[in-house]
Amino acid sequence: MSLRNLSDKKLIADTKMWNEKEEHCTRQFLRHINEVNRRRLFCDSGSGSLFKYIRKNFNKSDSETSRRVLAAKTLRHVPCADKALANKQVTLTNLAEVSNLVGNIKSNKKKNEILNSIKGKTQTQTRELVDDLTGKKRATKSKTRSHSDGTLRIHLTLVGQTAKDYEFIKEQLSNSRIYKPEDIIGHAINSTAKSIRKKIMSIGSRKSKVITNSRTISAAIKKAVIKRSGNKCENCASKYNLHFDHIIPYSKGGSSAIGNVRQLCSNCNTRAAIVALSQQKMDLYINQS
Ligand SMILES: [Zn+2]
Repeated sequence: MSLRNLSDKKLIADTKMWNEKEEHCTRQFLRHINEVNRRRLFCDSGSGSLFKYIRKNFNKSDSETSRRVLAAKTLRHVPCADKALANKQVTLTNLAEVSNLVGNIKSNKKKNEILNSIKGKTQTQTRELVDDLTGKKRATKSKTRSHSDGTLRIHLTLVGQTAKDYEFIKEQLSNSRIYKPEDIIGHAINSTAKSIRKKIMSIGSRKSKVITNSRTISAAIKKAVIKRSGNKCENCASKYNLHFDHIIPYSKGGSSAIGNVRQLCSNCNTRAAIVALSQQKMDLYINQS
């Protein structure tokens, strides 16, 4: 039906009605993604995070996805937040801005105080409030651009201790010659990369027996698994929060031989444990943040 034939009154009433429906659907969507998160169901389709799962499966941009994932996190941590959202006292953006803050607070009273303080506030006001409460100064968002010649151009602002550390490195290096900012940043990156590589390579470098009848996974097996996986999650290819996992749990007779050990990220590892041992059992251990 063409909307052109609606009366003015009906058009305004219908617009309001569809907005109500949209807000209701958004709240239902947040509740559902929280349950998907509890079960770590997104790992079944090879997405290592709730963000990647929503980005891949639903028609949402990075910022829309991020806002929903963070707002849903606040709903998990502050039960009253759902009611405040339903009563139009807070927006998705408000809830997203405080997600990390409330995720790190244990006291329900304090969480509710934060929720009350963001009611009716704009995004900028909410950000300022979070910055005040955390005592952090927000760094300007860095911009990274890769060029076809293999170089990487980064615009960044250093604040607080990082800025002081930069000056310290500059001072130390300048004893021998004058360095440009890219030399100093490059030096810091090279040292960090060197120490990370050393850490990765040290796994399994100690002479050790390949023991497979113990829960502990030997260094040699870990080294072989890393070689196989490329040091990535073997389910979703994530490079972060990696763990060694028994495919058949040790408690169910699985060995620590290479064929029963894999590298998984934290989310895929939790999902595997839910499938193997039950949601009920794993709810006792799962970190819902
Ligand atoms: Zn994973």
